[in-house]
Amino acid sequence: MTTTHCPYCALQCAMHLERGPDGALAARPADFPTNRGGLCRKGWTSAQVLTAADRLTTPLLRKDRTAGFEEVDWDTALEYAADRVRALQAAHGRDAVAVFGSGGLTNEKSYQLGKFARVALGTSQIDYNGRFCMSSAAAAGNRAFGLDRGLPFPVTDLADADVVVLAGANPAETMPPLMGHLSGARLVVVDPRRSGTAREALRRGGLHLAPRPGTDLALALGLLHAARAEGLLDDAYITERTTGFDAAWRHAAAWWPERTEHVTGVPAHRIREAARLLGTARRAYVLTGRGVEQHANGTDTASAWINLALALGLPGRVGSGYGCLTGQGNGQGGREHGQKADQLPGYRRIDDPAARAHVAAVWGVDPDDLPGPGRSAFELLDALGSAGGPRALLLFGSNPAVSAPDATRMRDRLAALDLLVVADFVLSETAALADVVLPVAQWAEESGTMTNLEGRVLRRRRAAAPPPGVRTDLEVLHGLAVRLGQDPERFPTDPDAVLAELRAASAGGAADYSGVTPQRLEDGEALHWPVPEGGQPTPRLFLDRFAHPDGRARFAPVEHRPPAEDTDADYPLLATTGRLMGHYQSGAQTRRVGELADAEPEVYVEVHPDTAARCGLAGGDRAAVESRRGTTVARVRLRPDARLDTVFLPFHYPGEQAANNLTNPALDPTSRMPEFKVSAVRLRPYADR
Ligand code: SF4
Repeated sequence: MTTTHCPYCALQCAMHLERGPDGALAARPADFPTNRGGLCRKGWTSAQVLTAADRLTTPLLRKDRTAGFEEVDWDTALEYAADRVRALQAAHGRDAVAVFGSGGLTNEKSYQLGKFARVALGTSQIDYNGRFCMSSAAAAGNRAFGLDRGLPFPVTDLADADVVVLAGANPAETMPPLMGHLSGARLVVVDPRRSGTAREALRRGGLHLAPRPGTDLALALGLLHAARAEGLLDDAYITERTTGFDAAWRHAAAWWPERTEHVTGVPAHRIREAARLLGTARRAYVLTGRGVEQHANGTDTASAWINLALALGLPGRVGSGYGCLTGQGNGQGGREHGQKADQLPGYRRIDDPAARAHVAAVWGVDPDDLPGPGRSAFELLDALGSAGGPRALLLFGSNPAVSAPDATRMRDRLAALDLLVVADFVLSETAALADVVLPVAQWAEESGTMTNLEGRVLRRRRAAAPPPGVRTDLEVLHGLAVRLGQDPERFPTDPDAVLAELRAASAGGAADYSGVTPQRLEDGEALHWPVPEGGQPTPRLFLDRFAHPDGRARFAPVEHRPPAEDTDADYPLLATTGRLMGHYQSGAQTRRVGELADAEPEVYVEVHPDTAARCGLAGGDRAAVESRRGTTVARVRLRPDARLDTVFLPFHYPGEQAANNLTNPALDPTSRMPEFKVSAVRLRPYADR
């Protein structure tokens, strides 16, 4: 039996993996603070992904895209990829080759990928899919607190809360064991949709506030206004622990509840009720998720919710606080070790000379040779194959043909490349477009570390050998680096050797892992970063001071802006997207688990019955959902509790079922996160032609 952690979301539930009578591994829950002996259905069935019927065990090569793949040996595949990379860089410069990573990769792989890009390739063109997931809350957290860690407190602290606001988060369906920590709290759920979490809130006497998509920021301003009108702000905390309240208030002052109702659709009396509930609670938390972030004003929207929490005196207190529910399994660690376009390991800025000098010394290179910041995820993908853009892409742990916004355009960009190399365990929708496909090991076939939503570093343990012919991502990076002329020692394949280097590279940075040793992990220490060398971990941040030089948190003066795309006569409805309990991200893993695929085999669109009738649709019909960018063909599900102006689609399906065929890549100016959550659409009956 091997004890490890779930391959999916950021709760990183602990599980035992054990072989059954048929010889196959099966998962069962292990006792651990985040999941306390629970798993969701994805976790229970996760071992089945290891034996997916279409698992790749041989590299695939296609020299002519009009022909099919041929199976080749590893030397042939790696030589071909390295030769093409060298030729493209010789002809077009270093930045002609780009790298795309993932918030699902271990800390060691995230670190090695960033180093590979900057040292072996010398390219500035690296970013990762976490840009689509958490970057707005990260930017807002850095702005407010001087430091971003999803939950700056252990998840177990939530168990003592009296009231919890869940803004744009649906943990009842996306990370169900988290709900066990919230069982004593009244919930205020903010979501345009009557989600599973919203239903749970109402069942327990809480509130569901359903704003029009794209008006979450206005709602947060309205709540702040109502809280002040009720005399609920913590004036002493604002004076002693924060700066900038007056400037922030100048914006909120105009958002009295009736005006907020006019813009958001949330009744004024509900806004006052929610403000009262939150403002009178002894212990309260404001938690945000992707619904708040995935907007063209996502950073400001997250800031508006942080402003509310600060005005009520919640952050930096035991038993209260603000936190962001990170989505991907290593969404936290993935953004700390250098696979972001603008960062180096230790959560350091790549344009900071001191950071460059420190990391260059660990890597044994000249700081002047390190590239500067590159393009953000969508901008990088959108530039592929264009004049001045990357001509080759090396992609690890991601499936942007399904998961990137404006997915039809993304598939065209990927197809426009001179070289696409994809490391994956199956022929994903993105791998199917590649020139070289490298079959790699999965979560339970390799070891490493992950960092969960509370900044706790965890040990991922190997429970089985990969199938013959399969290599780890670290072995792939080693093989490519050596063929690109690097010293083999510089790109080790042993995860603990990479961790040792990561510790040195992160030392002294905001996310300091220098005290994270394999022994401490094996001993079961709760290693919430920062963990300085020989020092203690930090389960709770900000209790004495925030991370800005003056020790104070900063209010951000933010104002509501309408979404980048609003409804009009041609596109009279708003579409929003999200996750299902039984699927994860692009579905590349969960669509290969029989019972998960059977439970939710196809995309659907949730529609109010009156809206459906106006579009000539009935429940069970197939609808063409059309935006200015593309079409998704989806089965109609009628929901009497849906907003009349809003439809919802899950985003786990490929091709004509991809919800991201609709989504708008309008970017937040700070985080560069696309506006996944608001697209203007229309619906019509779909007939197979
Ligand atoms: Fe836990 Fe998330 Fe895995 Fe479900 S998907 S078992 S909530 S880590």
